[in-house]
Amino acid sequence: MNDLMKGKRGLIMGLANNKSLAWGIAKQLSEAGAELAFSYQGDALAKRVRPLAAELGSDFLIDCDVSDMSALDSAFETLQSRWDTIDFVVHAIGFSDKSELRGKYVDTSLDNFLMTMNISAYSLVAVSQRAARMMPNGGSIVTLTYYGAEKVIPHYNVMGVAKAALETSVQYLANDLGPDNIRVNAISAGPIKTLAASGIGDFRYILKWNEYNSPLRRNVTIEDVGGAGLYFCSELSSGVTGETHHVDSGYHVVGMKQEDAPDI
Ligand code: NAD
Repeated sequence: MNDLMKGKRGLIMGLANNKSLAWGIAKQLSEAGAELAFSYQGDALAKRVRPLAAELGSDFLIDCDVSDMSALDSAFETLQSRWDTIDFVVHAIGFSDKSELRGKYVDTSLDNFLMTMNISAYSLVAVSQRAARMMPNGGSIVTLTYYGAEKVIPHYNVMGVAKAALETSVQYLANDLGPDNIRVNAISAGPIKTLAASGIGDFRYILKWNEYNSPLRRNVTIEDVGGAGLYFCSELSSGVTGETHHVDSGYHVVGMKQEDAPDI
């Protein structure tokens, strides 16, 4: 435990279970002294999120489907009814119909394109609008993205396009909110086995490929991501905004298969 986040309060959005990237970040924020509220999607997840929140000393849980603007309004009203201000928000949310997270991007349907964009990209804008009002003294907003925004990763398809929109949103939001000392950054995490990732076709192959071909020759953990989350939510990153920061064992710098990589 250190005191890096002592006296700071924030909202964690997107905790589903103890494999979630949000959990890796929440744990480190809590260990550093932060007070946390959690938003989750629907009753089914409440049962999983409640004991995890309790582990970190929080009973502040808010039901919120980010594709519903009135649900977002009432979530932030609930947040404000208990806390006047917040210091950070972690946005760890993404969704697409898994039938389109395999096969070809060219086959993406309009309905799923719009839904994926809404939940995985626009929601950061909608959250930032509401969070900024609770950050009169500045703050930090952090989202989660993936390398499939930059390069084609088979099966990632429409989610890659949504992540590209998300990363560009980070830059525009950083510019708009910078004068209010609100920083907006993204963590581009390497592949990690989570509920959301299990919807991506051939995810085990992606995991193996990254393990064998990244400079560190290993996959990252939610603890690796948690360290970056703590950095971005704390004053350690006080001069950093609009950034997409890779926590991927260095995979994004590699241009071809490693000589020592075994066949998969
Ligand atoms: P996860 O399944 O643990 O978390 C995804 C969360 O999104 C869940 O809590 C789910 O309830 C929430 N969500 C989906 N639709 C929602 C909606 N309409 N309203 C509110 N919440 C909604 O999986 P994760 O891998 O921890 O995903 C968190 C973030 O990290 C996502 O943005 C994901 O794209 C990103 N990411 C994951 C990986 C990976 O390999 N796991 C890599 C890079 C980035």
